[in-house]
Amino acid sequence: MSQQGHAVAGSGGLVLGVVQKLDEKHHIIPEYKVEEHQTEAEVRRFSQAILQARLSLQDEMMLLKEHPHANELLPILESHHLMLSDPELQAGTKRFIEEDKINVEWALKRCLTGFEQAFEHMDDIYLKSRKADITQVGQRIFQYLDASPLALHQAQSIMLATDFAPSDVVTMWRDGVAGFAASQGGKDSHTMIVARGVGLTGLVGAQGLFEQAEDGDVLLLNAEENTWILNPSPDECLAYDIEQQQLNEKRDALKIYANQPSQSKDGYYLPLLANIEFVEEVDIALQYGVDGIGLFRTEFLFMQSATLPSEEEQRAYYQKIVQGMGNKPITFRLLDVGADKLVHVQALFGDYDGENPALGLRGVRMLLRKPDILKTQLRAILGCAKTANISILVPMVVSTAEMLAVRALLEEAKAELDVRQDIALGCMIEVPAAALIADDLAKVSDFFSIGSNDLVQYGLAVDRSDEHVGYLYDANHVAIKRLIQMAVDAANRQNIPITVCGELAANRAWTQTFLDMRVSGLSMTARHVLAVRKQLRAL
Ligand code: PEP
Ligand code: MG
Repeated sequence: MSQQGHAVAGSGGLVLGVVQKLDEKHHIIPEYKVEEHQTEAEVRRFSQAILQARLSLQDEMMLLKEHPHANELLPILESHHLMLSDPELQAGTKRFIEEDKINVEWALKRCLTGFEQAFEHMDDIYLKSRKADITQVGQRIFQYLDASPLALHQAQSIMLATDFAPSDVVTMWRDGVAGFAASQGGKDSHTMIVARGVGLTGLVGAQGLFEQAEDGDVLLLNAEENTWILNPSPDECLAYDIEQQQLNEKRDALKIYANQPSQSKDGYYLPLLANIEFVEEVDIALQYGVDGIGLFRTEFLFMQSATLPSEEEQRAYYQKIVQGMGNKPITFRLLDVGADKLVHVQALFGDYDGENPALGLRGVRMLLRKPDILKTQLRAILGCAKTANISILVPMVVSTAEMLAVRALLEEAKAELDVRQDIALGCMIEVPAAALIADDLAKVSDFFSIGSNDLVQYGLAVDRSDEHVGYLYDANHVAIKRLIQMAVDAANRQNIPITVCGELAANRAWTQTFLDMRVSGLSMTARHVLAVRKQLRAL
Protein backbone atom coordinates (compact mmCIF):
# COMPACT_ATOMS: atom_id res chain seq x y z
CA MET A 1 0.00 0.00 0.00
CA SER A 2 1.33 3.39 -0.91
CA GLN A 3 1.55 6.18 1.65
CA GLN A 4 0.93 9.79 0.76
CA GLY A 5 1.51 13.20 2.23
CA HIS A 6 1.74 16.93 1.70
CA ALA A 7 4.64 19.33 1.91
CA VAL A 8 4.79 23.02 2.69
CA ALA A 9 6.36 23.92 -0.65
CA GLY A 10 7.89 22.52 -3.82
CA SER A 11 10.44 23.78 -6.30
CA GLY A 12 8.46 22.61 -9.33
CA GLY A 13 8.60 19.45 -11.45
CA LEU A 14 7.78 15.80 -10.88
CA VAL A 15 10.16 12.99 -10.19
CA LEU A 16 10.07 9.27 -9.52
CA GLY A 17 13.12 7.80 -7.84
CA VAL A 18 14.62 5.65 -5.15
CA VAL A 19 14.91 6.84 -1.58
CA GLN A 20 18.32 7.50 -0.14
CA LYS A 21 18.20 8.74 3.45
CA LEU A 22 20.86 11.01 4.91
CA ASP A 23 21.80 11.49 8.54
CA GLU A 24 22.15 14.89 10.22
CA LYS A 25 25.64 15.40 8.82
CA HIS A 26 24.31 14.39 5.43
CA HIS A 27 26.07 11.11 5.26
CA ILE A 28 24.24 8.30 3.59
CA ILE A 29 23.41 5.56 6.06
CA PRO A 30 22.96 2.47 3.89
CA GLU A 31 20.40 0.00 5.18
CA TYR A 32 20.38 -3.55 3.83
CA LYS A 33 19.93 -7.15 4.90
CA VAL A 34 22.91 -9.50 5.04
CA GLU A 35 23.17 -13.28 4.86
CA GLU A 36 24.00 -15.35 7.94
CA HIS A 37 27.55 -15.96 6.70
CA GLN A 38 28.14 -12.21 6.20
CA THR A 39 27.36 -11.17 9.76
CA GLU A 40 30.85 -12.00 11.00
CA ALA A 41 32.40 -9.61 8.45
CA GLU A 42 29.95 -6.89 9.48
CA VAL A 43 30.89 -7.29 13.14
CA ARG A 44 34.56 -7.10 12.17
CA ARG A 45 33.91 -3.89 10.22
CA PHE A 46 32.30 -2.48 13.33
CA SER A 47 35.23 -3.38 15.63
CA GLN A 48 37.71 -1.84 13.20
CA ALA A 49 35.69 1.37 12.93
CA ILE A 50 35.50 1.65 16.74
CA LEU A 51 39.24 1.16 16.95
CA GLN A 52 39.95 3.82 14.33
CA ALA A 53 37.51 6.22 15.98
CA ARG A 54 39.26 5.71 19.33
CA LEU A 55 42.70 6.31 17.81
CA SER A 56 41.58 9.50 16.06
CA LEU A 57 40.06 10.75 19.29
CA GLN A 58 43.29 10.04 21.19
CA ASP A 59 45.23 12.06 18.61
CA GLU A 60 42.85 14.97 18.97
CA MET A 61 43.12 14.81 22.75
CA MET A 62 46.92 14.94 22.54
CA LEU A 63 46.78 18.00 20.29
CA LEU A 64 44.22 19.68 22.47
CA LYS A 65 46.43 19.54 25.55
CA GLU A 66 48.27 22.63 24.22
CA HIS A 67 45.04 24.52 23.52
CA PRO A 68 44.20 27.52 25.75
CA HIS A 69 40.71 26.11 26.37
CA ALA A 70 41.92 22.57 27.00
CA ASN A 71 40.31 22.53 30.45
CA GLU A 72 36.84 22.90 28.99
CA LEU A 73 37.29 20.85 25.82
CA LEU A 74 39.24 17.84 27.05
CA PRO A 75 36.56 16.47 29.39
CA ILE A 76 34.11 16.39 26.46
CA LEU A 77 36.47 14.34 24.30
CA GLU A 78 37.29 12.10 27.27
CA SER A 79 33.60 11.38 27.71
CA HIS A 80 33.36 10.54 23.99
CA HIS A 81 36.29 8.18 24.41
CA LEU A 82 34.47 6.44 27.24
CA MET A 83 31.31 6.16 25.17
CA LEU A 84 33.26 4.50 22.37
CA SER A 85 34.21 1.75 24.80
CA ASP A 86 30.69 1.41 26.17
CA PRO A 87 29.85 -2.31 26.34
CA GLU A 88 26.16 -1.66 25.66
CA LEU A 89 26.95 0.24 22.43
CA GLN A 90 29.15 -2.61 21.24
CA ALA A 91 26.95 -5.46 22.37
CA GLY A 92 23.76 -3.75 21.16
CA THR A 93 25.10 -3.13 17.67
CA LYS A 94 26.44 -6.69 17.38
CA ARG A 95 23.10 -8.06 18.53
CA PHE A 96 21.25 -6.18 15.78
CA ILE A 97 23.72 -7.44 13.17
CA GLU A 98 23.55 -11.05 14.26
CA GLU A 99 19.90 -11.39 15.20
CA ASP A 100 18.27 -9.15 12.56
CA LYS A 101 20.85 -9.91 9.84
CA ILE A 102 21.39 -6.30 8.90
CA ASN A 103 24.46 -4.32 7.87
CA VAL A 104 26.57 -2.60 10.50
CA GLU A 105 25.53 0.97 9.62
CA TRP A 106 21.88 0.12 10.05
CA ALA A 107 22.56 -1.77 13.27
CA LEU A 108 24.60 1.09 14.69
CA LYS A 109 21.94 3.61 13.72
CA ARG A 110 19.29 1.59 15.55
CA CYS A 111 21.46 1.26 18.61
CA LEU A 112 22.27 5.00 18.68
CA THR A 113 18.63 5.92 18.22
CA GLY A 114 17.82 3.81 21.29
CA PHE A 115 20.46 5.67 23.31
CA GLU A 116 19.35 9.05 22.03
CA GLN A 117 15.76 8.36 22.95
CA ALA A 118 16.78 7.22 26.43
CA PHE A 119 18.67 10.48 26.99
CA GLU A 120 15.84 12.52 25.55
CA HIS A 121 13.42 11.16 28.14
CA MET A 122 15.64 11.90 31.11
CA ASP A 123 14.36 14.50 33.58
CA ASP A 124 17.83 15.75 34.43
CA ILE A 125 18.55 18.65 32.03
CA TYR A 126 22.28 17.97 32.05
CA LEU A 127 21.84 14.32 31.11
CA LYS A 128 19.26 15.26 28.49
CA SER A 129 21.81 17.54 26.86
CA ARG A 130 24.25 14.61 26.54
CA LYS A 131 22.14 13.30 23.68
CA ALA A 132 24.25 15.51 21.40
CA ASP A 133 27.38 13.65 22.57
CA ILE A 134 25.87 10.32 21.54
CA THR A 135 25.13 11.76 18.11
CA GLN A 136 28.70 13.05 17.76
CA VAL A 137 30.19 9.73 18.84
CA GLY A 138 27.97 8.02 16.27
CA GLN A 139 29.16 10.41 13.55
CA ARG A 140 32.72 9.58 14.40
CA ILE A 141 32.14 5.83 14.03
CA PHE A 142 30.21 6.28 10.79
CA GLN A 143 33.15 8.19 9.40
CA TYR A 144 35.21 5.00 9.63
CA LEU A 145 32.52 2.81 8.18
CA ASP A 146 32.91 4.45 4.81
CA ALA A 147 29.38 5.81 4.82
CA SER A 148 29.61 7.90 1.68
CA PRO A 149 29.15 11.63 1.87
CA LEU A 150 26.40 13.43 0.03
CA ALA A 151 28.51 13.90 -3.06
CA LEU A 152 28.78 10.21 -3.81
CA HIS A 153 25.43 8.77 -4.50
CA GLN A 154 23.78 7.62 -7.68
CA ALA A 155 21.40 9.25 -10.10
CA GLN A 156 17.68 8.57 -9.86
CA SER A 157 18.11 8.86 -6.11
CA ILE A 158 15.81 11.08 -4.15
CA MET A 159 17.67 12.31 -1.10
CA LEU A 160 15.76 12.59 2.16
CA ALA A 161 16.96 14.49 5.21
CA THR A 162 15.51 16.56 7.99
CA ASP A 163 16.95 19.70 6.42
CA PHE A 164 19.15 20.77 3.50
CA ALA A 165 21.32 23.87 3.28
CA PRO A 166 21.29 25.87 0.02
CA SER A 167 24.82 24.60 -0.70
CA ASP A 168 23.56 20.98 -0.39
CA VAL A 169 21.10 21.68 -3.18
CA VAL A 170 23.93 22.88 -5.39
CA THR A 171 25.96 19.74 -4.61
CA MET A 172 23.00 17.46 -5.37
CA TRP A 173 22.25 19.29 -8.59
CA ARG A 174 25.88 19.11 -9.74
CA ASP A 175 25.91 15.39 -8.90
CA GLY A 176 22.81 14.69 -10.93
CA VAL A 177 20.52 13.70 -8.05
CA ALA A 178 16.94 13.26 -9.23
CA GLY A 179 15.26 15.11 -6.37
CA PHE A 180 15.14 15.77 -2.65
CA ALA A 181 12.71 16.15 0.22
CA ALA A 182 13.25 17.66 3.65
CA SER A 183 11.07 17.55 6.73
CA GLN A 184 11.90 21.16 7.54
CA GLY A 185 11.90 24.39 5.53
CA GLY A 186 9.58 27.05 4.17
CA LYS A 187 8.39 28.24 0.77
CA ASP A 188 10.86 31.08 0.25
CA SER A 189 13.71 29.63 2.29
CA HIS A 190 17.03 29.92 0.47
CA THR A 191 17.12 26.17 0.01
CA MET A 192 13.92 26.43 -2.04
CA ILE A 193 15.12 29.49 -3.92
CA VAL A 194 18.30 27.70 -5.01
CA ALA A 195 16.35 24.56 -5.97
CA ARG A 196 14.02 26.61 -8.18
CA GLY A 197 17.02 28.41 -9.65
CA VAL A 198 18.77 25.26 -10.79
CA GLY A 199 15.55 23.36 -11.50
CA LEU A 200 16.07 20.55 -9.01
CA THR A 201 12.75 19.01 -8.04
CA GLY A 202 12.31 19.04 -4.28
CA LEU A 203 9.93 19.45 -1.38
CA VAL A 204 10.42 21.17 1.95
CA GLY A 205 8.29 20.75 5.04
CA ALA A 206 7.44 17.18 3.96
CA GLN A 207 6.61 16.04 7.44
CA GLY A 208 6.36 12.33 8.17
CA LEU A 209 8.12 11.27 4.97
CA PHE A 210 11.59 10.82 6.47
CA GLU A 211 10.23 8.62 9.28
CA GLN A 212 8.08 6.45 7.00
CA ALA A 213 10.56 5.92 4.18
CA GLU A 214 13.28 3.28 4.08
CA ASP A 215 16.30 3.23 1.81
CA GLY A 216 15.40 1.68 -1.51
CA ASP A 217 11.70 2.61 -1.35
CA VAL A 218 10.24 4.10 -4.49
CA LEU A 219 9.17 7.70 -4.05
CA LEU A 220 7.16 10.00 -6.26
CA LEU A 221 7.56 13.73 -5.66
CA ASN A 222 5.09 16.13 -7.14
CA ALA A 223 6.77 19.48 -6.55
CA GLU A 224 4.08 21.23 -8.62
CA GLU A 225 1.34 20.34 -6.17
CA ASN A 226 3.55 19.80 -3.11
CA THR A 227 2.64 16.17 -2.54
CA TRP A 228 4.49 12.87 -2.28
CA ILE A 229 3.61 9.20 -2.65
CA LEU A 230 5.78 6.54 -1.10
CA ASN A 231 5.81 3.19 -2.93
CA PRO A 232 3.19 4.25 -5.49
CA SER A 233 0.82 1.69 -7.01
CA PRO A 234 1.01 0.90 -10.78
CA ASP A 235 -2.00 3.20 -11.32
CA GLU A 236 -0.30 6.01 -9.48
CA CYS A 237 2.85 5.52 -11.58
CA LEU A 238 0.76 5.69 -14.72
CA ALA A 239 -0.88 8.92 -13.55
CA TYR A 240 2.63 10.25 -12.89
CA ASP A 241 3.71 9.46 -16.46
CA ILE A 242 0.72 11.31 -17.88
CA GLU A 243 1.24 14.33 -15.64
CA GLN A 244 4.95 14.41 -16.48
CA GLN A 245 4.13 14.44 -20.17
CA GLN A 246 1.59 17.24 -19.76
CA LEU A 247 4.11 19.28 -17.80
CA ASN A 248 6.72 18.83 -20.54
CA GLU A 249 4.22 19.89 -23.18
CA LYS A 250 3.33 22.99 -21.16
CA ARG A 251 7.01 23.88 -20.80
CA ASP A 252 7.68 23.34 -24.51
CA ALA A 253 4.76 25.57 -25.45
CA LEU A 254 6.29 28.43 -23.45
CA LYS A 255 9.59 28.30 -25.32
CA ILE A 256 8.37 30.69 -28.02
CA TYR A 257 8.36 33.46 -25.43
CA ALA A 258 12.13 33.26 -24.97
CA ASN A 259 12.69 35.54 -27.96
CA GLN A 260 9.81 37.95 -27.54
CA PRO A 261 10.01 41.41 -25.98
CA SER A 262 8.87 41.84 -22.38
CA GLN A 263 6.12 44.20 -23.33
CA SER A 264 2.47 44.57 -22.43
CA LYS A 265 -0.22 44.97 -25.11
CA ASP A 266 -0.25 48.73 -24.54
CA GLY A 267 3.49 48.84 -25.20
CA TYR A 268 4.87 49.18 -21.67
CA TYR A 269 8.32 47.60 -21.53
CA LEU A 270 8.73 45.74 -18.25
CA PRO A 271 12.15 44.08 -18.17
CA LEU A 272 12.02 40.50 -16.89
CA LEU A 273 15.26 39.79 -15.14
CA ALA A 274 16.86 36.80 -13.46
CA ASN A 275 17.81 36.18 -9.86
CA ILE A 276 20.99 34.14 -9.79
CA GLU A 277 23.22 32.74 -7.11
CA PHE A 278 26.19 31.32 -8.96
CA VAL A 279 27.88 31.33 -12.30
CA GLU A 280 26.30 28.22 -13.84
CA GLU A 281 22.95 29.93 -13.70
CA VAL A 282 23.96 32.49 -16.30
CA ASP A 283 23.49 29.94 -19.09
CA ILE A 284 20.15 28.87 -17.70
CA ALA A 285 19.06 32.52 -17.53
CA LEU A 286 20.10 33.18 -21.13
CA GLN A 287 18.16 30.14 -22.34
CA TYR A 288 15.04 31.73 -20.93
CA GLY A 289 15.73 34.99 -22.72
CA VAL A 290 16.04 37.18 -19.62
CA ASP A 291 16.55 40.91 -20.07
CA GLY A 292 19.37 41.04 -17.53
CA ILE A 293 20.17 40.03 -13.98
CA GLY A 294 18.09 41.90 -11.45
CA LEU A 295 19.57 40.20 -8.41
CA PHE A 296 22.92 38.51 -8.22
CA ARG A 297 23.11 37.10 -4.69
CA THR A 298 26.84 37.31 -4.06
CA GLU A 299 26.89 35.28 -0.84
CA PHE A 300 27.33 31.90 -2.51
CA LEU A 301 30.99 32.48 -3.27
CA PHE A 302 31.48 33.10 0.44
CA MET A 303 29.49 30.02 1.41
CA GLN A 304 31.75 27.69 -0.49
CA SER A 305 34.88 28.26 1.48
CA ALA A 306 36.03 28.55 5.08
CA THR A 307 38.13 31.59 4.26
CA LEU A 308 37.27 34.95 2.75
CA PRO A 309 37.62 35.13 -1.03
CA SER A 310 40.21 37.77 -1.93
CA GLU A 311 39.40 40.83 -4.06
CA GLU A 312 41.03 39.10 -7.02
CA GLU A 313 39.04 35.89 -6.53
CA GLN A 314 35.81 37.83 -6.24
CA ARG A 315 36.59 39.92 -9.31
CA ALA A 316 37.43 36.83 -11.37
CA TYR A 317 34.15 35.22 -10.32
CA TYR A 318 32.10 38.34 -11.08
CA GLN A 319 33.87 38.71 -14.39
CA LYS A 320 32.58 35.31 -15.49
CA ILE A 321 29.04 36.50 -14.92
CA VAL A 322 29.69 39.78 -16.68
CA GLN A 323 31.17 37.99 -19.69
CA GLY A 324 28.25 35.59 -19.84
CA MET A 325 25.68 38.39 -19.82
CA GLY A 326 27.29 40.56 -22.51
CA ASN A 327 25.91 44.09 -22.28
CA LYS A 328 22.73 43.18 -20.41
CA PRO A 329 22.36 44.92 -17.05
CA ILE A 330 23.50 43.16 -13.88
CA THR A 331 22.60 44.17 -10.35
CA PHE A 332 25.11 42.95 -7.79
CA ARG A 333 23.62 42.62 -4.37
CA LEU A 334 26.20 43.20 -1.65
CA LEU A 335 26.93 40.29 0.64
CA ASP A 336 23.78 39.36 2.55
CA VAL A 337 24.94 36.69 4.94
CA GLY A 338 23.38 35.82 8.24
CA ALA A 339 20.13 34.12 9.30
CA ASP A 340 19.58 31.09 7.03
CA LYS A 341 22.43 32.10 4.70
CA LEU A 342 25.16 30.62 6.81
CA VAL A 343 28.76 31.32 6.03
CA HIS A 344 31.51 29.60 7.93
CA VAL A 345 33.99 32.38 7.66
CA GLN A 346 35.54 33.34 10.97
CA ALA A 347 36.58 36.77 9.63
CA LEU A 348 32.94 37.65 9.04
CA PHE A 349 31.23 36.55 12.16
CA GLY A 350 34.08 35.93 14.60
CA ASP A 351 32.49 34.66 17.76
CA TYR A 352 29.16 36.35 17.06
CA ASP A 353 26.40 34.07 18.23
CA GLY A 354 23.18 36.11 18.16
CA GLU A 355 20.21 34.33 19.68
CA ASN A 356 17.93 35.61 16.96
CA PRO A 357 20.02 35.60 13.78
CA ALA A 358 17.25 36.80 11.44
CA LEU A 359 17.09 39.95 13.57
CA GLY A 360 20.80 40.05 14.20
CA LEU A 361 23.93 40.64 12.14
CA ARG A 362 22.65 40.29 8.59
CA GLY A 363 23.17 42.11 5.32
CA VAL A 364 24.31 45.71 5.59
CA ARG A 365 24.63 45.48 9.37
CA MET A 366 27.37 42.94 9.06
CA LEU A 367 29.00 44.81 6.17
CA LEU A 368 29.21 48.05 8.08
CA ARG A 369 30.69 46.24 11.04
CA LYS A 370 33.40 44.94 8.70
CA PRO A 371 34.04 47.91 6.38
CA ASP A 372 37.23 46.33 5.04
CA ILE A 373 35.27 43.36 3.76
CA LEU A 374 32.65 45.67 2.25
CA LYS A 375 35.29 47.80 0.60
CA THR A 376 36.98 44.72 -0.85
CA GLN A 377 33.70 43.57 -2.33
CA LEU A 378 32.95 47.02 -3.75
CA ARG A 379 36.40 47.14 -5.34
CA ALA A 380 35.92 43.65 -6.81
CA ILE A 381 32.57 44.68 -8.34
CA LEU A 382 33.98 47.96 -9.64
CA GLY A 383 36.75 45.96 -11.24
CA CYS A 384 34.10 44.75 -13.72
CA ALA A 385 32.47 48.17 -14.18
CA LYS A 386 34.46 49.18 -17.23
CA THR A 387 33.12 46.39 -19.38
CA ALA A 388 29.63 45.94 -17.98
CA ASN A 389 26.35 47.61 -17.26
CA ILE A 390 26.27 47.19 -13.49
CA SER A 391 24.49 48.52 -10.46
CA ILE A 392 24.84 47.71 -6.76
CA LEU A 393 22.14 46.84 -4.29
CA VAL A 394 22.29 47.08 -0.49
CA PRO A 395 20.45 44.41 1.56
CA MET A 396 18.53 44.75 4.84
CA VAL A 397 18.52 48.55 4.96
CA VAL A 398 16.54 50.20 7.77
CA SER A 399 17.99 53.73 7.77
CA THR A 400 19.33 56.44 5.49
CA ALA A 401 22.54 56.37 7.54
CA GLU A 402 23.26 52.85 6.28
CA MET A 403 22.82 53.92 2.67
CA LEU A 404 25.03 56.96 3.19
CA ALA A 405 27.74 54.89 4.85
CA VAL A 406 27.80 52.41 1.94
CA ARG A 407 27.80 55.26 -0.57
CA ALA A 408 30.79 56.89 1.12
CA LEU A 409 32.74 53.63 0.83
CA LEU A 410 31.64 53.22 -2.78
CA GLU A 411 32.95 56.71 -3.60
CA GLU A 412 36.24 55.88 -1.91
CA ALA A 413 36.59 52.66 -3.87
CA LYS A 414 35.71 54.43 -7.14
CA ALA A 415 38.37 57.06 -6.49
CA GLU A 416 40.98 54.40 -5.68
CA LEU A 417 40.26 52.52 -8.89
CA ASP A 418 39.65 55.62 -10.98
CA VAL A 419 36.18 54.50 -11.98
CA ARG A 420 34.50 57.61 -13.33
CA GLN A 421 31.13 56.48 -14.57
CA ASP A 422 28.04 56.62 -12.38
CA ILE A 423 27.31 53.38 -10.62
CA ALA A 424 23.72 53.25 -9.40
CA LEU A 425 23.41 52.33 -5.72
CA GLY A 426 20.06 50.81 -4.83
CA CYS A 427 18.29 50.11 -1.59
CA MET A 428 16.43 46.88 -0.90
CA ILE A 429 13.01 47.40 0.54
CA GLU A 430 12.70 44.20 2.52
CA VAL A 431 12.11 45.35 6.07
CA PRO A 432 8.84 47.15 6.91
CA ALA A 433 10.81 50.10 8.34
CA ALA A 434 12.35 50.71 4.92
CA ALA A 435 8.91 50.91 3.28
CA LEU A 436 7.72 53.24 6.02
CA ILE A 437 10.63 55.65 5.52
CA ALA A 438 10.79 55.11 1.76
CA ASP A 439 10.49 58.86 1.05
CA ASP A 440 13.71 59.48 2.98
CA LEU A 441 15.48 56.46 1.52
CA ALA A 442 14.50 57.52 -2.01
CA LYS A 443 16.52 60.71 -1.53
CA VAL A 444 19.72 58.78 -0.84
CA SER A 445 19.17 55.87 -3.27
CA ASP A 446 19.41 55.67 -7.05
CA PHE A 447 16.80 52.92 -7.19
CA PHE A 448 14.72 50.61 -5.01
CA SER A 449 14.30 46.87 -5.21
CA ILE A 450 11.51 45.21 -3.26
CA GLY A 451 12.66 42.03 -1.53
CA SER A 452 9.26 40.51 -0.98
CA ASN A 453 10.67 37.34 0.62
CA ASP A 454 11.98 39.19 3.62
CA LEU A 455 9.27 41.82 3.50
CA VAL A 456 6.77 39.02 4.15
CA GLN A 457 9.00 37.43 6.78
CA TYR A 458 9.52 40.67 8.72
CA GLY A 459 6.18 42.26 7.87
CA LEU A 460 4.12 39.34 9.11
CA ALA A 461 6.67 38.12 11.69
CA VAL A 462 6.81 34.69 10.03
CA ASP A 463 10.13 32.84 9.77
CA ARG A 464 10.47 32.07 6.05
CA SER A 465 12.24 28.77 6.80
CA ASP A 466 9.87 27.45 9.45
CA GLU A 467 7.44 24.87 8.12
CA HIS A 468 5.20 25.22 11.19
CA VAL A 469 4.18 28.76 10.28
CA GLY A 470 4.31 28.21 6.52
CA TYR A 471 0.53 28.73 6.32
CA LEU A 472 0.99 32.31 7.56
CA TYR A 473 3.67 33.19 5.01
CA ASP A 474 1.45 35.07 2.59
CA ALA A 475 2.54 37.81 0.23
CA ASN A 476 -1.13 38.57 -0.50
CA HIS A 477 -1.68 39.83 3.01
CA VAL A 478 -3.06 43.35 2.82
CA ALA A 479 -0.23 44.62 5.05
CA ILE A 480 2.32 43.54 2.45
CA LYS A 481 0.38 45.14 -0.37
CA ARG A 482 0.33 48.41 1.55
CA LEU A 483 4.05 48.29 2.25
CA ILE A 484 4.79 47.66 -1.42
CA GLN A 485 2.49 50.50 -2.48
CA MET A 486 4.24 52.87 -0.06
CA ALA A 487 7.62 52.03 -1.56
CA VAL A 488 6.30 52.44 -5.12
CA ASP A 489 4.70 55.82 -4.31
CA ALA A 490 7.90 57.08 -2.69
CA ALA A 491 9.99 55.96 -5.67
CA ASN A 492 7.59 57.71 -8.07
CA ARG A 493 7.61 60.90 -6.05
CA GLN A 494 11.40 60.97 -6.09
CA ASN A 495 11.47 59.76 -9.69
CA ILE A 496 13.75 56.76 -9.12
CA PRO A 497 13.23 53.29 -10.62
CA ILE A 498 11.75 50.51 -8.50
CA THR A 499 11.99 46.81 -9.29
CA VAL A 500 10.73 43.71 -7.50
CA CYS A 501 13.24 40.96 -6.85
CA GLY A 502 11.55 38.67 -4.33
CA GLU A 503 9.69 35.53 -5.38
CA LEU A 504 6.53 37.60 -5.68
CA ALA A 505 7.89 38.99 -8.95
CA ALA A 506 7.08 35.65 -10.59
CA ASN A 507 3.55 35.45 -9.24
CA ARG A 508 1.35 35.92 -12.30
CA ALA A 509 -1.59 36.97 -10.18
CA TRP A 510 0.46 40.07 -9.42
CA THR A 511 1.67 40.91 -12.94
CA GLN A 512 -1.27 43.25 -13.65
CA THR A 513 -0.74 45.00 -10.30
CA PHE A 514 2.95 45.52 -11.00
CA LEU A 515 2.10 46.79 -14.46
CA ASP A 516 -0.43 49.26 -13.03
CA MET A 517 2.18 50.40 -10.54
CA ARG A 518 4.55 50.98 -13.46
CA VAL A 519 7.41 49.22 -11.69
CA SER A 520 10.59 49.22 -13.75
CA GLY A 521 11.51 45.55 -13.66
CA LEU A 522 10.62 42.15 -12.27
CA SER A 523 13.46 39.90 -11.23
CA MET A 524 12.80 36.24 -10.58
CA THR A 525 14.01 32.66 -10.88
CA ALA A 526 14.91 32.50 -14.56
CA ARG A 527 12.68 29.56 -15.38
CA HIS A 528 9.61 31.58 -14.42
CA VAL A 529 10.37 34.31 -16.94
CA LEU A 530 8.60 32.65 -19.88
CA ALA A 531 5.27 32.20 -18.11
CA VAL A 532 5.39 35.78 -16.79
CA ARG A 533 6.28 37.13 -20.24
CA LYS A 534 3.35 35.27 -21.75
CA GLN A 535 1.09 36.81 -19.12
CA LEU A 536 2.58 40.29 -19.60
CA ARG A 537 2.15 40.22 -23.36
CA ALA A 538 -1.54 39.46 -22.93
CA LEU A 539 -2.20 42.36 -20.56
C1 PEP B 1 14.10 39.03 -0.64
O1 PEP B 1 14.21 39.08 0.58
O2 PEP B 1 13.01 39.10 -1.23
C2 PEP B 1 15.30 38.85 -1.48
C3 PEP B 1 15.23 38.94 -2.78
O3 PEP B 1 16.46 38.54 -0.85
P1 PEP B 1 16.82 37.10 -0.29
O4 PEP B 1 15.74 36.14 -0.74
O5 PEP B 1 18.14 36.74 -0.80
O6 PEP B 1 16.80 37.31 1.18
MG1 MG C 1 16.16 39.33 1.46
